[in-house]
Order: sequence, then C-alpha cells, then structure tokens
Amino acid sequence: MSDNCIFCKIIKGEIPAKKLYEDDDVFAFWDINPVAPKHFLVVPKKHVSAPSSAGQEDDPLIGTVLRTGSRLAKENGLEHFRFVMNNGEEAGQTVFHIHLHVMGGRTMNWPPG
Ligand code: 5GP
Ligand code: ZN
Repeated sequence: MSDNCIFCKIIKGEIPAKKLYEDDDVFAFWDINPVAPKHFLVVPKKHVSAPSSAGQEDDPLIGTVLRTGSRLAKENGLEHFRFVMNNGEEAGQTVFHIHLHVMGGRTMNWPPG
C-alpha cells in the first residue's frame, strides 16, 4: 500500500468506485472516464508503481491480472477486447499503480494513438 496512491485508496474503500470483482490478489473496477463502451481496470492489490517496476516475484501476480481481465471481459459480454498497460508519462500513464485497461464494445484502431 502507498499512502498517496489513488488506486490503493480505491482498493481500501477510501475512494468510491464501481467494483466489478475482488479477491485476495486483485481488484477490478469500471474506469471513471471510459474510452470505449466497456472499459474497466484490473489492478493488483500490491502497490507496484509501473510494469517496469515489477520484479520476478510479481510474475504470478501479473499473470493473475491478465487472466482476470480475460475472464471479466468474457463475463461482461466481450469476445473481442483490447488490453493496455501504460508505462511512464510519455506512454500515457497517469496513475502510478500498475493497472490493466480492458476495453471493448467498439472496433479498436491500430496502431493506437
Ligand atoms: P493511465 O492513464 O494511468 O494508464 O490510466 C489511469 C486510468 O484511471 C484512466 O483511464 C482514468 O480514467 C482512471 N481513473 C483515474 N482516477 C480514477 C478514479 O478515481 N476512479 C476510477 N474508477 N478510475 C480512475
Ligand atoms: Zn497503489
């Protein structure tokens, strides 16, 4: 946990969010500013600031994040969806707690902007 992290506060229930799923390792909630008809985030409960900060010991956790994202996509009616994990400001990261964006419900463009 990190005191000033907005996603740690969401996990602890200190900031409200529309929760989709929670277990011992991960927390999933709908993005407050969706960029697709369905857009949610899957975050590890452990505070890791960015994908590049994850260590080898986090491999199972990252796997759980990805697998949970796929399962929740399917459970929410998405057969086709986009996963995004931004790393660093220039890549679009604004919250420095690892999160997997899961987006779907429209045709996605490639390459991303
Ligand atoms: P990033 O830009 O770091 O990859 O993604 C951060 C995401 O978190 C953005 O899509 C943004 O809309 C979402 N977000 C930021 N603050 C909140 C919040 O307080 N609640 C929810 N549900 N989403 C948030
Ligand atoms: Zn955090």
